[in-house]
Amino acid sequence: DSCNGGKTEPFHEKKPAIKFTKLFINGEFVDSVSGKTFETIDPRNGEVIARVAEGDKEDIDLAVKAARAAFDHGPWPRMSGAERAKIMMKFADLIDQNTEELAALDCVDAGKLFSLGKAIDIPDVANTLRYYAGAADKIHGEVLKMSRPLHAYTLLEPIGVVGHIIPWNFPSTMFFVKASPSLAAGCTMIVKPAEQTPLSALYYAHLAKLAGIPDGVLNVVTGFGPTAGAAISSHMDVDKVSFTGSGEVGREVMKAAAASNLKPVTLELGGKSPLIIFDDADIELASELAIIGILYNKGEICVASSRVYVQEGIYDELVKKLVEKAKAWTVGDPFDPQVRQGPQVDKVQFEKVLSYIEHGKREGATLLTGGKAIGDKGYYIEPTIFTDVKDDMLILKDEIFGPVMALMKFKTVEEAIKSANNTTYGLAAGILTKNLDVANTVSRSLKAGTIWINCYFAFDHDCPFGGYKMSGFGKDMGLDGLHKYLQVKSVVTPLYNSPW
Ligand code: NAD
Repeated sequence: DSCNGGKTEPFHEKKPAIKFTKLFINGEFVDSVSGKTFETIDPRNGEVIARVAEGDKEDIDLAVKAARAAFDHGPWPRMSGAERAKIMMKFADLIDQNTEELAALDCVDAGKLFSLGKAIDIPDVANTLRYYAGAADKIHGEVLKMSRPLHAYTLLEPIGVVGHIIPWNFPSTMFFVKASPSLAAGCTMIVKPAEQTPLSALYYAHLAKLAGIPDGVLNVVTGFGPTAGAAISSHMDVDKVSFTGSGEVGREVMKAAAASNLKPVTLELGGKSPLIIFDDADIELASELAIIGILYNKGEICVASSRVYVQEGIYDELVKKLVEKAKAWTVGDPFDPQVRQGPQVDKVQFEKVLSYIEHGKREGATLLTGGKAIGDKGYYIEPTIFTDVKDDMLILKDEIFGPVMALMKFKTVEEAIKSANNTTYGLAAGILTKNLDVANTVSRSLKAGTIWINCYFAFDHDCPFGGYKMSGFGKDMGLDGLHKYLQVKSVVTPLYNSPW
């Protein structure tokens, strides 16, 4: 294969070669205008992996110019959907041919598990491309039934130049959740990866070119949020911004959009998702889902089940199981196939999570297990479970974005609904019960964009994903995720002498 030199020894014994470190603008890898670079750090040991070009306002201007020209004059929006789909399919195949190398880049850059990247994340991004490629030749409006003698129809047009500002927790997934539908729609774009995880995004730029995506359609500008990111959201010639990240930055993005050209914005922000476990739930499944719900991707996932509400009848038994499972959960080098949890993405997140844990202890929550950093190298944190967590405690209100579970006991269905909804967030929720009436009542009562019944993290390309309340607005994935990159134009003409 391309990254393991055709040898058969396990890939985890190697470090991936870093081939792309420059900005990708108008189909070329280029230095930043300022010539500046920044370090991207390996969270396993705090060492520098590579220096990457640091894009700023001038670089965003160049990328927007390229994307504008590609939109206004280039072939991409003018091609048939089927032609765009063919290129997107080729892009997907190229990703499949480089799965290990891409998984390895996200592993060193973000501390993500190599095995899961290879088995799930990277194959999934290729399939996201294929899902939207399948939609590219089915984008059409409708003929309207007017109340007067008028013939009217809608056209669906690509929205134009799109800015995608993405986070570090799922560098590959986030890239394609945003790039795939906008490519299918016929948009052109600038992707700004998170400064913690620029490496796979640049590799995808290289593959896009190999696949035949025309120059200027997909630009990648690496750099920091307040400079490169802000230059996108405040740009007068960017037609839409799609953002995933923190609520705080989401507000800044929206303000900048409002203050510039009133570009539409979609925001996918944080969460503090509840998992509600009723007495009749399968206890083995419940303990497994609760543990995976908070420890998957080291808790760095916006839909982490960070608030677990357990009905009183099974509370004690479940607590025992959760503690056992948390203690048996292996934390270590994310290249090791036995390991289930790698390091937090960087020192800032590592310290933030540890400070929340200290806060929890000070606020009087009971620490059942974990609560400390592991080792003195890298950003590893023990799987941590708190119980006796009260509504006003910070660890129950804030998104910690780490392997920290808050466990609460409840008595009635009404009490569970009230507690689960007692949050400013509304991204996802889980319900575990065999009682259909309870499942239906609770799923309709929860204010959250995704409800998982007797499962968790059950994502699919066709399933729209996005928040209620302060978890944001606008959907990624599914056909809703395509429509946010399309404009609806109504065309109306009189009908004379027609038997309408
Ligand atoms: P962030 O919101 O700061 O960063 C997300 C992206 O926005 C990055 O690409 C960043 O460079 C960019 N950005 C930062 N400032 C900007 C600005 N002023 N204008 C435009 N773009 C800007 O997120 P973070 O600091 O990486 O993480 C902080 C918290 O965000 C986490 O602890 C977590 O709570 C949340 N988060 C949520 C998700 C999610 O999927 N919902 C993902 C990552 C982080």
